[in-house]
Amino acid sequence: AYERVLEIHSQHLAPMSTAYFPKPLLLHQGHMEWLFDYEGNRYLDFFSGIVTVSVGHCHPKVNAVAQKQLGRLWHTSSLFFHSPIHEFAEKLSALLPEPLKVIFLVNSGSEANDLAMLMARAHSNSTDIISFRGGYHGCSPYTLGLTNVGPYKMELPSGTGCQSTMCPDVFRGPWGGSHCRDSPVQTIRKCNCAPDCCQAKDQYIEQFKDTLNTSVAKSIAGFFAEPIQGVNGVVQYPKGFLQEAFELVRERGGVCIADEVQTGFGRLGSHFWGFQTHGILPDIVTMAKGIGNGFPMAAVVTTPGRANREVAFSSGSLPSAMVIKEEKLQENSQDVGTYMLRKFAELRDEFEIVGDVRGKGLMIGIEMVQDKVSCQPLPREEVNEIHDDCKRMGLLIGRGGIFAQTFRIAPSMCITKPDVHFAVEVFRSALIQHME
Ligand code: PMP
Repeated sequence: AYERVLEIHSQHLAPMSTAYFPKPLLLHQGHMEWLFDYEGNRYLDFFSGIVTVSVGHCHPKVNAVAQKQLGRLWHTSSLFFHSPIHEFAEKLSALLPEPLKVIFLVNSGSEANDLAMLMARAHSNSTDIISFRGGYHGCSPYTLGLTNVGPYKMELPSGTGCQSTMCPDVFRGPWGGSHCRDSPVQTIRKCNCAPDCCQAKDQYIEQFKDTLNTSVAKSIAGFFAEPIQGVNGVVQYPKGFLQEAFELVRERGGVCIADEVQTGFGRLGSHFWGFQTHGILPDIVTMAKGIGNGFPMAAVVTTPGRANREVAFSSGSLPSAMVIKEEKLQENSQDVGTYMLRKFAELRDEFEIVGDVRGKGLMIGIEMVQDKVSCQPLPREEVNEIHDDCKRMGLLIGRGGIFAQTFRIAPSMCITKPDVHFAVEVFRSALIQHME
């Protein structure tokens, strides 16, 4: 059966852009944090799709709601009212602080960011949008201009009206990972302070100001930031940095957009939204992935004043993510996530090739290096080998960073501490095998 699937895939489906495994798994079934192949092998899914299956595969409560709705009504367009959408909007807006209360439902994170970009421009004299080096905001024609990481960095398609969208040198993750094409040398954290300590903040703020003053027009329409960079390999900002960056953008008339596609919905544990961990209030928040647990759902949330223009609006989605509140999954992210970070961090002391372990809640990055002195990324083939060994032993994790050198862990938020033990032991075994 596998050979047949491979054949169909090669003939009729586009190649997978970031397939790290020579032979991707052929999966059959999922239940909560577990996936099963046709041979009955089970895998602990510690990447939950790509940070998407927030409450677990085929969660019974989500299934029940979805099935009920599928049997009743699928689509009404935006020409009619359909009360599940209203109920959902009310619940979702209750999760956001004032004045972020108006919701546009869309179908993907890219689409949400497209819409946010249109909104930012609609209220500005400028068309310039900026984002960080290392940021990932989607792969639609508009958002490709914002995305600036690894294999996803592409030239802007012509005709999108997208002006400069890049902040060329603003942010290179200081805590591991060069996150920069031209500088392969890693800058792994040398001090032992907390990853969100403030040492580098002033330096980054100066760079940010330079960019605002030089490469971008004096006034800007909008600024996109992920509260923690996900695709770039779980990169955190120095404490206070994002807050100051927001102020600088606002001084120049720009609106600030928090891309919560990965960090939202309680994944970071301490707060429901990533922006709250920085003590900032965005003008626009975009969200996807965890909102739908795998259904194509996404949203843009903004203030009433900003939502008064006619902009694209599509709908027809299934409410699901409320399970996060009911089952206290944010609290679980905090509890199990803190524990997991500590457990994986122990490997940093055990293995020379584990350069950095960082993150927050259930969003953790493990950056692999050749050694802790040179901090060069571990060659891709070697990272592939460790990755594949984990899979063989029943653990699925993700990758990120320019050189795909960072393992990313972002499981469903229903995971338990025994799951963490299993994952750490499998990962440790894969590292030991690699060192032999
Ligand atoms: N923003 C962020 C932070 C993301 O991680 C992603 C997807 N990896 C997107 C936007 C785009 O979302 P989608 O794939 O649903 O278009």
